[in-house]
Amino acid sequence: MRPIANPPPHVYTTVDLDRAASRRRDAAWLAERRRDPTSRVVALEDLQLLVVDGPTGPDPFPLDPSLLGGAVPERAVFLGLLEDRAVFALDLEGERPGIEGRFVELRALAPLLGAAEAGLLAYARALAHWHRTHRFCGRCGAPTAAVEAGHVRRCTACAADIFPRTDPAVIVLVTAGDRCVLGRAPRFPPGMYSTLAGFVEPGESLESAVRREVREEVGLELGAVRYRSSQPWPFPQSLMLGFRAEAVGGTLAIELDELEDARWFHRAELLDEANRPVRLPNPDSIARFLIDEWLAEG
Ligand SMILES: [Zn+2]
Repeated sequence: MRPIANPPPHVYTTVDLDRAASRRRDAAWLAERRRDPTSRVVALEDLQLLVVDGPTGPDPFPLDPSLLGGAVPERAVFLGLLEDRAVFALDLEGERPGIEGRFVELRALAPLLGAAEAGLLAYARALAHWHRTHRFCGRCGAPTAAVEAGHVRRCTACAADIFPRTDPAVIVLVTAGDRCVLGRAPRFPPGMYSTLAGFVEPGESLESAVRREVREEVGLELGAVRYRSSQPWPFPQSLMLGFRAEAVGGTLAIELDELEDARWFHRAELLDEANRPVRLPNPDSIARFLIDEWLAEG
């Protein structure tokens, strides 16, 4: 059987992490963990992760509290317990700790990480982005401040609570027998074709979002729409909901506002890695999983 890239739980999903949500309001316990030398800190700057290269590879948890002047700063987000160690995410906001390291994009680092590390870093990146983009209250415009160990922002004037956002997006592999549709958006790397995707709009079910996106982007009508699995996609704040669907009507017609090309591909031409006519999506994506899973059925 052909290997399937990135089976569920897909990369960037937190695994083996105890979120210990009941501790987020436990100030005394959190203060102890901030000073605990066994605690660990993920540090970010402009959503890139600080890593230190060690003999066994890049260390994404290079900071212990002693490197931060004795304790993890209060503004760090408590992510949870990994193997009973507290892990925090700290947006450095220009303050470099006394440590030599480099800042790396999560997607570049992911292939070098274990599943638990990749999930934790994705979670850290998503929360860092949310904090950066919710500094002011959407109701009254006053500044907000982080509370509950960084899992809520509260308005300093009207006390409205603001919670981390995750935007649902559907992603679908459309098939008809031994063929599937892959499309290419202008932002893709050269030669790459992928599954169709789009954000869920207010008032839509996931299934109706799948049908609308496919109709809008390539003009096809779908029969059965089948849910497969989901993937957190913190670039910056999506949850990808993966589907398989059968085309039953319409003819392929590309909506040029969204795609620059879309084509039917035979399973055989995608299976032939040496002569594959296009580049498939990166192995860290649910798009690649949906394609590989279908290819393995042939
Ligand atoms: Zn307010």
